Amino acid sequence: MKSIYGLSRDSLEEYFLSIGEKKFKAIQVYEWIYQKNINCFDDMSNVKKIVIDRLKKDFTCDKLNILKIERDKLVNKYLFELSDKERIESVLMRHDYGISICISSQVGCNMTCKFCESGRLKKVRNLEVNEMILQILQVSEDIGERISHVVVMGIGEPFDNFDNIVEFIKTVNDPKGLNIGSRHITISTCGIIPKIIEFSKLPYQVNLAVSLHAPNDEIRNSIMPINKVYSLEKLIPTIRDYINRTNRRVTFEYILLSGINDSKENALELCTLLRGLNCYINLIPYNETNNLQFKRSKKSTILDFYDIIKKEGLNVTIRREFGSKISAACGQLRSKKEDL
Ligand code: SAH
Repeated sequence: MKSIYGLSRDSLEEYFLSIGEKKFKAIQVYEWIYQKNINCFDDMSNVKKIVIDRLKKDFTCDKLNILKIERDKLVNKYLFELSDKERIESVLMRHDYGISICISSQVGCNMTCKFCESGRLKKVRNLEVNEMILQILQVSEDIGERISHVVVMGIGEPFDNFDNIVEFIKTVNDPKGLNIGSRHITISTCGIIPKIIEFSKLPYQVNLAVSLHAPNDEIRNSIMPINKVYSLEKLIPTIRDYINRTNRRVTFEYILLSGINDSKENALELCTLLRGLNCYINLIPYNETNNLQFKRSKKSTILDFYDIIKKEGLNVTIRREFGSKISAACGQLRSKKEDL
């Protein structure tokens, strides 16, 4: 049976029309599930019994099973179990500008980036829309606060689950749904070019982040196999077109890996690659994992790398660190649990 949480308002309106009801019922239902956060259809006190019975027949209100929560001052990490017993995770972070959640988009990931835990576990399946929505709703319920920002940067490659991501954005962004402004939603991709192009044609003003992690094809090929299909030579012009078409600034993520992509030459090469693009470079200190050989760059190396980019006049930030204490880096909680 379908989950009520996976439906965009359009689809719910269509559903009500198809069962001979008025379409405003969709708004009522939306208010109950997204603003009032009810647990079952019976709680919808302004909805007729006959409609409730029909909803019960057609949809479930089931939530995800929370297996584990790790809590720290500014960050919580959630391990969820899905109805087929697969596991995913979400990370909640408190910033001075609001509360953000990093959600997963797939069980595992097929992109096999060498430094990433999620890739080690391979993709099992795409997440359904409701499984992405429920990560936000249930974390918000757990902390008793509204979540203001969503980043799709957890386990999985969102553009390998494109249609569901688009449906997901609709409900997250809907004022009657989760009501999170499009500027507060970020989708992160390793660079699947055809989907970036498709995404640029959609009417949503959400942010795009691209996991770059290398200033040239040689290094990128060695750590991100996707680059052999969509090389920088094609990716960068695609991003340029994306920026021109959408008028939006793109973020490039760049993990600093000791001895691999963190030299002064690499920093200069990165500037040459990105100069003239309306973008931010977000330098990410690598979260070391148990299973892989990559090492985090030294603090002084990270600062030198930052200074070079800054001096060259590009926009650059160093990602504030949140999760390493509670292994909140991508895929780590899930893989820890899997090793038990
Ligand atoms: N597949 C998408 C989104 C998920 S990965 C993408 O590639 O963008 C989210 C981000 O976390 C990516 O930039 C990824 O490269 C990065 N990441 C993965 N493992 C990491 C680690 N151990 N430390 C720091 N960042 C990591």
